[in-house]
Amino acid sequence: MNNTEATDKQEDQSQNNSVTRRRFVGCTALTAGAAVVGSVGMGAGIDASLKRSRETTQAAENQEALKRLLLRSQEGPSGRRFPVLDLHTHPSLKAYMFRQRFWKTHEAKPGMSPTSMVVDVDSLVNGGTGVFLCTAYVLERQFFSDVVPLRVLSKLHPRPHHMATAPLNVLAMEYLDKAEAMVAETNRQRGDIVELATHYSDIKRIVDEGKVCMIHAMEGAHHLAGNTELVEDFFDRGVCMMTVPHLYPNEAGGCVDIFTNIKKFWWTKGSFSDAYQDSAGLNPWGHELVENLLDVGIIVDIVHGTQEYRRQAIAIAKNHPKKRPITMSHVDIHKNPAEGMGPSPEDVRSIADMGGVIGLMMMHHSYENSPDPVEALLHAIAYLVQHGGEDVVAIGSDFDGYAETAMGLASPRDFSAVRKALLATYTEEQTAKFLFGNGERLLQMGWGKQ
Ligand SMILES: [Zn+2]
Ligand SMILES: [Zn+2]
Repeated sequence: MNNTEATDKQEDQSQNNSVTRRRFVGCTALTAGAAVVGSVGMGAGIDASLKRSRETTQAAENQEALKRLLLRSQEGPSGRRFPVLDLHTHPSLKAYMFRQRFWKTHEAKPGMSPTSMVVDVDSLVNGGTGVFLCTAYVLERQFFSDVVPLRVLSKLHPRPHHMATAPLNVLAMEYLDKAEAMVAETNRQRGDIVELATHYSDIKRIVDEGKVCMIHAMEGAHHLAGNTELVEDFFDRGVCMMTVPHLYPNEAGGCVDIFTNIKKFWWTKGSFSDAYQDSAGLNPWGHELVENLLDVGIIVDIVHGTQEYRRQAIAIAKNHPKKRPITMSHVDIHKNPAEGMGPSPEDVRSIADMGGVIGLMMMHHSYENSPDPVEALLHAIAYLVQHGGEDVVAIGSDFDGYAETAMGLASPRDFSAVRKALLATYTEEQTAKFLFGNGERLLQMGWGKQ
């Protein structure tokens, strides 16, 4: 039994009157059963009102149980709370593309989880996540010509066809709508436990109320469809961060080619052509966009950019009058740390100097060759501390983002093990910074009007 299962069990045993997940499912089934009987045997009005009142009671009881579990999951041995602030997750990707339900419990296995959801309300509560950025990601147009199975699918099925042809900014808004619908449905089904923050000032209130705070983010400048005016629209919707480069070159410039590594698989035959890639830095439009984001108050994320791209973006931020920090929100520290998307010692230093952070992915970092994923994560943290100090370390799991997760670091539930390992290695003060405080400072300094 792992820690999180044990926590679940403790919750089951210690709450005589609480509503456990099993009982919740039972009650939902009963309510559903009553609704079916009602539809054939009773007046629809009476039935609907009975159902509503049962659901309301049910949701309220669940809310209290989930809140207690969340607080307990965040607690260290001294009783101090260590919530997690995760700078990069993608549950809305699974909800949008595969109709996964955020309010339901999912089993997380190490690996890629192609369609199943990893970031759900139970995993967040059980691992003690306080804040997570839900990153919208509409597939780049190049996918539908560069990747053979997607090209075929988009001709045959209306949904991929829509994703391949609707304007990108329209699809981006559909993603934000989906993320908000995920929260609304969860609160209906499980009680008022997750809330969207649309301003920095909302975060503290939501966390203090014992709820999980979700914030919108976006990955890839292609969502703007070449129109910098949309930056204001996304900001008004509550988007706090934008990763400017992504998997294919976009209007802002080139990117790191991550597809070369997967070309060994048989199903990639004929796909992922080099012709679609370009390792150029920021172009003049990208330069303008970065300035615009800094000006409006959407945090600039430069992960996926080449070394040259990162140097350019860092220089723009340093010279910008508003003095905003920038970030690499989700990185993997390789054996050669500056390889691919990984931050070089110079990147770490520069980002730290402006008050920014670097988010570590929940995966098996190959730096220092440790066989244990949690220990390898500690080595990755040590690398960041060595080059940027303890204020640069943050978490950006990339859960639900098609990164290869590792045994023991496969879902937000596993933040329990990370918290424990950090408290055994670092002080409470440092642990609190790595898990939450540094990421919170990035949001405070980078998100919102000045
Ligand atoms: Zn990414
Ligand atoms: Zn991502």
